[in-house]
Amino acid sequence: MTSFSFASAQGPLPPSILDELQSDIRHWRGSDQSLLELPFSASDFEAIHAAAEQDLRHLLGLTSEHHILFLQGGATALFSLAPMNLLREGDSADYIETGLWSRRALEAASTWGDMHVAAAGDGRSLPPPQTWRISSSAAFCHVTSNETAEGLQFRTFPDLGGIPLVADMTADFLTRPIPLDPFGLIYASAQKNLGIAGLTLVVIHEKLLGRVRKGIPAPFNFGLQAAARSKVNTPPTFAIAVAGKMLRWLSSAGGLAAAAARAASRSAALYSIIDDDAFYSGPASKLDRSHISIRFHLEEPGLESAFATEAEANGLFHLRGHPSVGGFRASLYNSVPQEAIDALTAFMNDFRRRKG
Ligand SMILES: *Cc1c(COP(=O)(O)O)cnc(C)c1O
Repeated sequence: MTSFSFASAQGPLPPSILDELQSDIRHWRGSDQSLLELPFSASDFEAIHAAAEQDLRHLLGLTSEHHILFLQGGATALFSLAPMNLLREGDSADYIETGLWSRRALEAASTWGDMHVAAAGDGRSLPPPQTWRISSSAAFCHVTSNETAEGLQFRTFPDLGGIPLVADMTADFLTRPIPLDPFGLIYASAQKNLGIAGLTLVVIHEKLLGRVRKGIPAPFNFGLQAAARSKVNTPPTFAIAVAGKMLRWLSSAGGLAAAAARAASRSAALYSIIDDDAFYSGPASKLDRSHISIRFHLEEPGLESAFATEAEANGLFHLRGHPSVGGFRASLYNSVPQEAIDALTAFMNDFRRRKG
């Protein structure tokens, strides 16, 4: 039986990329070398790195004023590294607090300056941008584009004039086109939509460089990494190579507009079952619910463990919701195949027919 993962922590890899990696690992380009062994200083790695950067620039429509950094540490490290790189002593920033991940970002940032909550959500909906109370002195405004635990996603991003948005896009990076003007910094761990763990993508506008705190380790200093093209020290070479393959795959699948159309139709297929009657229910508001992190509960809590067990018996894995909110969650990252959504919708309909 085919099995599918709906894990929120990590997205699947397309089978074609797994096949390529299998031969790359043992016989890279037909040689006796492994892609895992490729030194970061080699021109072959430079070509991989440059192609990945080029594809990302093209997909996002970046300009020469944007730097792309390939870092380590994950989005969680960026919760601290963003304020450490963007706030001088005494500076303050605004945070949009909408759920678990933005709270973690806010908590980490609070060590590095005075943080204001400019808007807060209630866990089921998002504060509309026109209600945000932005401080005129804020060095940036931090927003979490997709709250993975709560299943909420901002549809639009405000341009706050001189105050740049800093966004944690880990869960929905490269799942839709975004307007670049409002953003000063975008960060995303790679393992959800862009390959494997060990790599954190950072896109930073050059006007935000140069505010770094003293004492920050060089590999986490955005200015040094921008100048060194992410080679202050050994970058995560294999994760960058995998990201390069994912970027190529995404480009050949129609780019971000096509990714957004897929995310909209795939999430709609699940939400239509959830909305159909009271057997399933979705805690997130219809206006703000995510196209990537689809949450649902069973109206009858006593059926939840049967749902989980039977789902796994049908090859549908990792559907449990985040422990902080319970219930179920299907994460529809870019590389989750359409067959996975078809299998899940068929199972949900069948389970309801039998137990409803
Ligand atoms: C998964 C996730 C994170 C955590 O990423 P790590 O790589 O584990 O640090 C942060 N923010 C959001 C929105 C996420 O979905």
